[in-house]
Amino acid sequence: MKISEILKSERPSVSFEIFPPKAAGSTDETLRVIEKLAPLRPSYISVTCRSGSTPDYTLDVAAAVEKHGIPALAHLTCFSSTRSEADRLTGRLSDLGVENILVLRGDLPADGSPVAKDFPHATDLLSHISKKGSFCLGAACYPDRHPESESYIDDIGYLREKAACGAEFFTTQMFFDNDLYYAFLYRMLRAGVTAPVVAGIMPVVNVRQIIRSAELSGTTLPPRMRAIADRFGGDPAATRQAGIAYATEQIIDLFAHGVDHVHIYTMNRPETAAAIMNNISDIIGK
Ligand code: FAD
Repeated sequence: MKISEILKSERPSVSFEIFPPKAAGSTDETLRVIEKLAPLRPSYISVTCRSGSTPDYTLDVAAAVEKHGIPALAHLTCFSSTRSEADRLTGRLSDLGVENILVLRGDLPADGSPVAKDFPHATDLLSHISKKGSFCLGAACYPDRHPESESYIDDIGYLREKAACGAEFFTTQMFFDNDLYYAFLYRMLRAGVTAPVVAGIMPVVNVRQIIRSAELSGTTLPPRMRAIADRFGGDPAATRQAGIAYATEQIIDLFAHGVDHVHIYTMNRPETAAAIMNNISDIIGK
């Protein structure tokens, strides 16, 4: 099923993100994650594309998600796609019955390995794939603006371009302060971008990892989150409990303010996703 249809018909919707294995040998572990997530009945599951790794793992995992009767959203990046590779990957996705693609530029591989350059920006890959006509395409957006953008105005201008190039919905970078998201929605609407903006929520269960990825992505850590990191960072069980409570509160606040769609970055931890889903079960009616 196309995500554009899901976002129209399911209000509220809660979807999950997982990542594929680094190497072929560890596929079973990812399949076990899907088996544990499936009974939580997410609206769809997205599968990231690791920079510096083969995108085929993303496709394999997306196909496994679809086998559970859950719509899959496969991430494809410019950095892993030459023109011919993009055509091969989209052809394979069609064969696998995966109808949804999140189109991204990609993160530069940490080991400095070379990247493809046929599509400099997500807009270029979006235009290329949207000509095929058969996929529902999404793109990334950044309530705190992308770290390379000089201003909010530039950033929103490129998001408008993404929509013009075929993005039917957006998923946000993680954010820990809902007010940033509300202000961002206002800027999007003011710029005439009306595509749904799915709110990306990262439950913090590993403080060091979150501080690092927040620094890399330019995401602001509000004082409340910093206090949790400082106070409980050395105690994994306490961090997890505080992280789940924080994410739950964020999600309830979003739904209470009329936001329809939330995407949980599960980090392949089904028990964390399950705890949050349990906390909001009556709110989402699942
Ligand atoms: P772009 O849209 O190309 O934007 C990059 C920068 O260029 C921005 O500053 C933007 O304002 C500017 N820009 C955009 N379009 C143009 C244009 N046409 N001309 C000039 N400048 C332009 N990374 C991965 O490697 N794998 C993943 O699976 C993955 N999943 C993600 C999922 C989500 C929801 C998000 C928010 C991010 C994800 N990322 C992933 C990270 C993402 O690849 C990085 O944030 C990357 O730095 C930017 O990707 P983008 O698609 O927004 O790039």
